[in-house]
Amino acid sequence: VVRLDGVTKRFGTTTALDDVTLDVARGEVVVLLGLSGSGKSTLLRHLDGLETPTAGTVEVLGRPVSAMKGRALRNLRSEVGFIFQQFELVASLTVLENVLTGALAALRGPRLGLWSYPRSARLAALGHLDRVGLLDRAYQRADTLSGGQQQRVAIARALMQRPRILLADEPVASLDPESSDQVMALIREIAADDGLTVLCSLHQVDLAISWADRIVGLRHGKLVLDTPAAGLSKAEVMEIYGRVATTTR
Ligand code: ATP
Ligand code: MG
Repeated sequence: VVRLDGVTKRFGTTTALDDVTLDVARGEVVVLLGLSGSGKSTLLRHLDGLETPTAGTVEVLGRPVSAMKGRALRNLRSEVGFIFQQFELVASLTVLENVLTGALAALRGPRLGLWSYPRSARLAALGHLDRVGLLDRAYQRADTLSGGQQQRVAIARALMQRPRILLADEPVASLDPESSDQVMALIREIAADDGLTVLCSLHQVDLAISWADRIVGLRHGKLVLDTPAAGLSKAEVMEIYGRVATTTR
């Protein structure tokens, strides 16, 4: 469902992605590893049409993202959920209202407040909150939750789009180890239940081994590692990742 073919992306003199070819099948959970600046975010942004390649092509859900704009691109984006390190919730809104904003792309016109959303959307939002284990927090302000809880709200918000692909850019980078594990477990569970394809960048090798189907390593924008996570020991990946790490800069 995701295919990058010879993708190169340059920003001025920086080569953020260097001839990357990658094929991801439906339902796969792929973790991207690589040092800061290796191109993980840039790769993910290409899958949502937020960047266009300097060379090569990007295909998502059988559609040529790299050549799309306007309504076609908006339609595609509605099938791709994106979560971030900083959660990006609206602090002053309740948890439930934050989840509801995930439906905005599908609804016409702006919405203000809980009751301006259709009943079906409100019910769906409560269902997603239940799924991420935060139904009892629905009417609390978003900024009163812990980091791990806020990320779970962001996941519920992404689910409002009924995504077929979930992109996660360092979703646990600002969380403690226990919340990180919880968030990754949740992503994994949703992927399995919904047949969702996941591409997720991480910095923690142990989390990648625990939760990925497949690990992809980037170094200076080049794809230097692409291997099933099953059966890999931490030492093996640390060695590979260590090599990724030590040869950078
Ligand atoms: P991190 O782990 O720190 O998030 P990353 O692997 O996500 O790093 P990217 O953000 O993809 O790395 O950046 C890859 C390279 O591209 C970096 O050298 C970065 O400075 C550069 N880059 C990314 N976006 C832009 C931009 N909009 N303009 C200029 N350079 C950019
Ligand atoms: Mg990044």
